[in-house]
Parts: sequence; C-alpha cells; structure tokens
Amino acid sequence: MITATNPSTQAVPLPDWRQGLREAVTDAGELLALVGLPHLAGRLPAGDAGFPLKVTRSFIRRMHKGDPNDPLLLQVLPVLAELDEVPGFSDDAVGDLDAVQAHGVLHKYAGRALLIAAGSCAINCRYCFRRHFPYAEELAAAHAWHAAVDCLAADTSIREVILSGGDPLVLSTAKLKDLTDALRDLPHVTRLRIHSRLPVVLPERIDAALCDWLSALPLQRVLVLHANHAHELDGDVAAACARLHAAGVTLFNQSVLLRGVNDNATALVDLSERLFALGVLPYYLHQLDRVRGTAHFEVPDARGRELMDEVRARLPGYLVPRLVRELPGDDAKRPV
Ligand SMILES: *Cc1c(COP(=O)(O)O)cnc(C)c1O
Ligand code: SF4
Repeated sequence: MITATNPSTQAVPLPDWRQGLREAVTDAGELLALVGLPHLAGRLPAGDAGFPLKVTRSFIRRMHKGDPNDPLLLQVLPVLAELDEVPGFSDDAVGDLDAVQAHGVLHKYAGRALLIAAGSCAINCRYCFRRHFPYAEELAAAHAWHAAVDCLAADTSIREVILSGGDPLVLSTAKLKDLTDALRDLPHVTRLRIHSRLPVVLPERIDAALCDWLSALPLQRVLVLHANHAHELDGDVAAACARLHAAGVTLFNQSVLLRGVNDNATALVDLSERLFALGVLPYYLHQLDRVRGTAHFEVPDARGRELMDEVRARLPGYLVPRLVRELPGDDAKRPV
C-alpha cells in the first residue's frame, strides 16, 4: 500500500550544516546540563585540560541522559586524568609533525598522499593527536592548493589523494571543488579518499551540493568514516550514508579502541553490525596513538588481541576490522 505520508520518502530539507557547526557546544557546564549530569561540573579539569571541549548538538542528542559512563560522552568530556603525565605519552606520537612537508602533504605510504586539508573539526575527541597540533589550522589555511597540487603532480607514483586534517568536510564545497578541479590535470591520480567524522557527528553536512560535487568527480571516491560505538549511528547518519552511496562513494569506517568506550567484544560486534546495516564496512580498529593526556583510554595490546579473537568468533570475516597501530617510520599501519 502506498500512503501519501511515508516519512522516509518525503524530501525533508536538511538543516544548514554551517549553523550546526556554529552551534556546537563548547562549554562543559552546558554539555553536562544537556545530558542531565550537572553535578559533575565541579570535577572537571581547569581550562578543559588544554584542549577545548567541542561537540555538535546532534552528537549530544545520541548520548544517554544521566549516564556518566555514556560511551559518546566519554569521547568528548574533559577529565582530570588528562592532566596525568604518563611515560611514553608524548605530543607527536606518530611522527607526523616532522613528516608533514611545507605544503601540507604527508607522503608516508606508497601510492597514497595525504593532504592536511583543514585544521579544525566539528568535534574535539579527547583521545586525538590534534590536542597538541593547534597550528594545524594555520598550516592548512596558509597553503594554497597549488603548492600541494604541484607536489602531487611531481610524483606520478601517487594514485590516491587522501583528504584529511582536521576534518576536510568542514571546508566549503566550493573549496573542495577547487581542489579536485586542480587534480583533473593529474592523470596518475585515480582515487580520492576522504577521512571525515562529519557524516557521523554532523550528518547534515552531506547535503545536495556536496553530493553533486562527489557524483561529478572523474575519480573513484572513498570515504572513511570515524565511529567508535554503535550508538553514534542513528537514523540521520544512516540517511547521510545513503546519500553518499547514491553519489557513488564507497564507505568504510575506522575506530579507535578506547577503554570505557568500546573495549568489550559486544560493543565491537554491535558496531560492526550497525555499520553494515548502513552499508559501511569496518576497516581499521586503531590502537591509541600514545599522545600526552590520553593514557586513561589505552587498552593493552594483549587485551586488544583477546577482543579481536572474540569478535572473529562472532562475526563474518568481512565485518572484522583490522587491529593496527601506527608507528613512526613504518611503511604501513602495523597489525597488532
Ligand atoms: C593512515 C595513513 C594513510 C592511509 O593508510 P591506509 O592503510 O591506506 O588506510 C596514508 N597516509 C598517511 C600519512 C597515513 O597516516
Ligand atoms: S581528527 Fe578525528 S579524532 Fe581527531 S578531533 Fe577531529 S574528528 Fe576527532
């Protein structure tokens, strides 16, 4: 039976993503009030422990109210443990600050070049290396695309250009199009890969203009999402993934193994199942980069391997992500 009011087929206009970005919550007191935990406000580190709190309202709506251990809340709320100095946790755990070339291009792995396309994100994840990379913004802004494109043009071994950051989808669609227009003259580049958390934390970013740009690209396109827990993947995210598929984008997901967030087999199984329901394949499960202020999130390798054994026993092989770690000097992500 066809009804006139099927909500899934009605073209409901998306909210303006720029407004969603502007309205991100940056005050811990406000966040705690929104999730029904105002009494925790007295236990927060001063000055957000040196890395500003930032989280979209869309992401906050998916948190379970009144739960101080909510896996989404734990990813964004500053905590006192971030102030602990733990040996082995440094400011540049993967050596990227050294490797990044003057034009914002990171060429560490064969055939793939990564462009620091943007310095900011819609959300500040507490475990992220960005907490010690405040100048990424200036770096990304200072470099006109042409310097990066010159670098890509000079190396015909590069088949895939990866847009990363920060989050490349905080850039305007017009700016993204400028870049890919410049790539048209490089016949050796056949794939564009985007690493972005925006389809998850600000799904309205996947709007008609972005999808038109993606659809029209003369390149194969891949987008690697970043979700760490099944609760992040609500109906709005599912709709964003559907729009990306319609634009001919192949979707993968990478996660970080985080203590208290997803360090149990059921959470990992549920994440893979939910991703596949959205047409997304699990790609990597990263061991935490050993970045200062994040030690409380670390899961020991032995425990990580144990978890992966359990996940492998419960899921088809194509839903099992690869547990990897990034180490300076390696020629690929290293299996744990
Ligand atoms: C992770 C990473 C890539 C991509 O690696 P894949 O294994 O292809 O996903 C490329 N360049 C740099 C600098 C990276 O850190
Ligand atoms: S780069 Fe990714 S993990 Fe880091 S803050 Fe941005 S969205 Fe979060």
